[in-house]
Amino acid sequence: MLAARSKHICGQLQALFGHTQKKQPRETGPKDTPFTVAIVGAGIGGLTLAIGLLKENVPFVLYEAAAKYSIIGAGVGIGPNAVRAMTMIDPKLRDMYYETSSGNLTPGKENVMMDALYAGEGFSTPAPFGAKSYQRTSAHRRDLLNHLTSMIPRDRVRFSKRVVNVRQLSNSVIIHFEDGETVEHTAVIGADGVKGPIRRFVLEKAFPDEVAPTFTGRYTYRFTVPIKEAQKILGTLADDAKCFMGRGVNIMAYPISKGKEYNVVAVVCTEKPWTHEKWTHQVSKEKMLADFKGKVDERLIRLLDWAEPVQWSLHHHLSTPIYYNRRVCLLGDSAHATTPHQASGAGQGIEDALIMSHILGKVKSPHQLTVAFEIFDSIRRPRAQKVVETSFECGHIYSLAHPDFGDDFVRIAAHLNRRFLWIWEHDLEADVKKADLMFEMLTARI
Ligand SMILES: Cc1cc2nc3c(=O)[nH]c(=O)nc-3n(C[C@H](O)[C@H](O)[C@H](O)COP(=O)(O)OP(=O)(O)OC[C@H]3O[C@@H](n4cnc5c(N)ncnc54)[C@H](O)[C@@H]3O)c2cc1C
Repeated sequence: MLAARSKHICGQLQALFGHTQKKQPRETGPKDTPFTVAIVGAGIGGLTLAIGLLKENVPFVLYEAAAKYSIIGAGVGIGPNAVRAMTMIDPKLRDMYYETSSGNLTPGKENVMMDALYAGEGFSTPAPFGAKSYQRTSAHRRDLLNHLTSMIPRDRVRFSKRVVNVRQLSNSVIIHFEDGETVEHTAVIGADGVKGPIRRFVLEKAFPDEVAPTFTGRYTYRFTVPIKEAQKILGTLADDAKCFMGRGVNIMAYPISKGKEYNVVAVVCTEKPWTHEKWTHQVSKEKMLADFKGKVDERLIRLLDWAEPVQWSLHHHLSTPIYYNRRVCLLGDSAHATTPHQASGAGQGIEDALIMSHILGKVKSPHQLTVAFEIFDSIRRPRAQKVVETSFECGHIYSLAHPDFGDDFVRIAAHLNRRFLWIWEHDLEADVKKADLMFEMLTARI
């Protein structure tokens, strides 16, 4: 009877979503045995997952290398897809996000993602792009992290725990920390960011060439300006999100902190490899400004005067052939680090957290954990990797280097009005239903 049911579900699944591939041998084991999950990394991905697991009553411990919650960068734009994911994880999460997020300041521009305009001398007439289904919201990372951490009991988090290695046993995973301690969990989720060590463990044997992140040929200067100062320089252009596009450079800027600050991400394209040991590199102010002189209007040079002259390299994971290795799975940037051009990296981590917490909420015993990760991989990897690919391509559009668009702003804006719909309008309810169906099917077989 079980076999017949599985065949039936399989048929349904194939009709709905196409073929699902069996990737790894299934484990067998006892039923209804308690299990615990380790989350490695307390960034937006790991924290959102923790909130999801709390909702689903899945026992977990969150391990973070830093001594306390830490914030890198300032602004983060959250697309409507990620806001929906927040709502599905816990409506309180969305409500808290809305309490601190900001949109465009000009009434009537609620659905505009950014105005595209030429960064060079004199600028060009701003060409808005967005969609009815899009609502502009951005927050200061500090505020977002404060909200996320306020929802997680302190006793679920262990700070100053830098993971150096993980080792799988037949029914558990041993985590080794830098301070010499080891702990045992039934499964591990690596939400440890683009440089985190868990990715090596997942991919090293089968895909050694895919472990290291790739330099994208771009670095950024990231900073905030009090909005009043930005308005003194840019006038009303500083009221709303802007994408200043220049040859080999592009500057994305938008209000955050309830309209009190203007967040700026200034991207520079380079042909040279990133050779610095660290991913941040201090330069002189003159060198920073030289990256933009002659390419952008003087007003943007004055805006850049507010920046700390620190270059942040942009690395990404353009290719990740699989997100899991038995009881160890990647989530967030460790799986799919992306460039910032589509403002979607954190949003994809939030979608990951939704699907992962939902599936883990269904797991009744440890032997179902690899199945859960297989389902997560099957649902999340195609979409998240497509975001990485298309974001990289979007960077070419923003730096006026895309062969199809060049510097034709009318065509660029028309294209950008359509470009993000598949990200923003994605049906997360369907993903959850697919996860349910796959779980029923794959656990019925074992
Ligand atoms: C300039 C820029 C602008 C961006 N703008 C946007 C935007 O507007 N919208 C958007 O959606 N996305 C944006 N992104 C992407 C977004 O910032 C990331 O996708 C997101 O923050 C990644 O979150 P994460 O939790 O996966 O990883 P991280 O934030 O990197 O967190 C990883 C955590 O793991 C910890 N860790 C690492 N190694 C270990 C270890 N060995 N042991 C224990 N802990 C460890 C770290 O200390 C850290 O706390 C932008 C990115 C950049 C670079």
